[in-house]
Amino acid sequence: MMIECGRSILNELLASVDLPILEQKVYADCHDEVATWWKAAAEESMQVAAKEEADEACGVVKDGIPIITVVADCCRSKRSYKTNYSPSGVAAIIGYRSGKVVYLDVKNKYCIVCSRAALKGVPVIKHDCYKNHSGSSTSMEQSVIVEGFKTSVARQNVIYGTLIADGRAVRVAT
Ligand SMILES: [Zn+2]
Repeated sequence: MMIECGRSILNELLASVDLPILEQKVYADCHDEVATWWKAAAEESMQVAAKEEADEACGVVKDGIPIITVVADCCRSKRSYKTNYSPSGVAAIIGYRSGKVVYLDVKNKYCIVCSRAALKGVPVIKHDCYKNHSGSSTSMEQSVIVEGFKTSVARQNVIYGTLIADGRAVRVAT
């Protein structure tokens, strides 16, 4: 089970067990450090999964590069910031044989720092911007899948040859 837990909820929990609450800067620093660890662990896990898929490709190769079959899975944030569109979309590409994630990314249309600066009409201060998508909300997940396919050889030395989505197999590369 995944529990959404921002600083305010965490601080409520800490206060309820009589522990000191976290100031915004401490929370942000910890968040950034954990995010760095998470990203490195996820990348390593995806490399291992791609290698496993490549080993199971049973000699199906193109120019010496293993061709694997993958499944696409997408979801969108339910948080809406009082609007009807989703500001975040996530998609994963999963190896068909192993069932393990070989590619995962998140697209965000919203960054609170950029948004506040635009609202106040002031220049944006230097920050780690989370906004990495400018197209429509409905195209967020698709763009993750497309990026995964375009970069698979460079990242993992595998070709995502067949995509299974909505129960149908589509040959992408031969
Ligand atoms: Zn930003």
